[in-house]
Amino acid sequence: MNPFDYIRAADEGDAVRRGLAENAKYLGGGTNLVDLMRETIEAPRALIDVSSLSTAIEAGADGSMLIGAAARNTAVAEHPIVRTRYPLLVRAILAGASPQIRNMATVAGNLLQRTRCAYFYDEDGSRCNKRSPGQGCDAIGGINRGHAILGTSKACIATHPSDMCVALAALGAIVHVRNADGERSLLLTDLHRLPEDRPDRETVLRHGDLITAIELPPLPFATRSAYRKVRDRASFAFALVSVAAAVQLDGETVQDIRLALGGVGTKPWRAWKAEAALRGRPADIESFRAAAEAELADAKPLANNGFKVALAQRTIIAVLNDLTGRT
Ligand code: SF4
Repeated sequence: MNPFDYIRAADEGDAVRRGLAENAKYLGGGTNLVDLMRETIEAPRALIDVSSLSTAIEAGADGSMLIGAAARNTAVAEHPIVRTRYPLLVRAILAGASPQIRNMATVAGNLLQRTRCAYFYDEDGSRCNKRSPGQGCDAIGGINRGHAILGTSKACIATHPSDMCVALAALGAIVHVRNADGERSLLLTDLHRLPEDRPDRETVLRHGDLITAIELPPLPFATRSAYRKVRDRASFAFALVSVAAAVQLDGETVQDIRLALGGVGTKPWRAWKAEAALRGRPADIESFRAAAEAELADAKPLANNGFKVALAQRTIIAVLNDLTGRT
């Protein structure tokens, strides 16, 4: 690990001022960043500790919630109103990592965690455009069973590893950001970039931008929601495929739906095509199958991950069957 300065931010303003320093990074729970520093993939000169700022979880009277960026994953998952209003978010959090990691990891850190592509971590032996732009990508012609099939490019096929972000994408979460110029907000679905020809640029955030909170808009039908994660072992494994869904029925018709996928996309994947295909359609297996096929129509599987196309389709159908009371 390279030497670095450690500074505990006094407040958000202090953090933003210090975060502008060259090669400074914000530190939340450190559950990903410190690993990357140990591997020397990340080498910040200064860590600005923001882990004690904005930990509040507030329920709005309109049905919304505001979650401080430094709230721990466990605190979010155990919050009684989150559990009532957004059960898919709770299930997604509990499907991720281990209890010890969830106790440390923060919400903002979860958003900004980096891929677990093995070639990305193999600094001495593998080429990786995300680590070293222009170097090449050994995953494309290598072992790519766990890699993405949606949103990929010729430069990178790495998945975004977060479970929580999949649920947040489905919920239409809003990310609040502060920097030296003031405050702004953006949809979580606009936070992460597709890799295109610069996979090292993972988000639209600029240097010094501090995530201060995540807002969950009111979504009454999210009380009927689910998160299902398919993985190689029962715990502490990343998703091969995951599905976050919330459905509003009008009799036997899908009135509204939110659907997002994990484990298949280079970013948390909001399933806009499937949602459009389902609104106003009968809540039956034919509609679910057509929607799943529409979402996966642009999939670009490689040598080892073609199974994810059918797995994602089947998981979407299974989750929607469960949510709508079908077998
Ligand atoms: Fe690097 Fe992306 Fe290729 Fe993995 S898939 S080796 S992260 S460029």
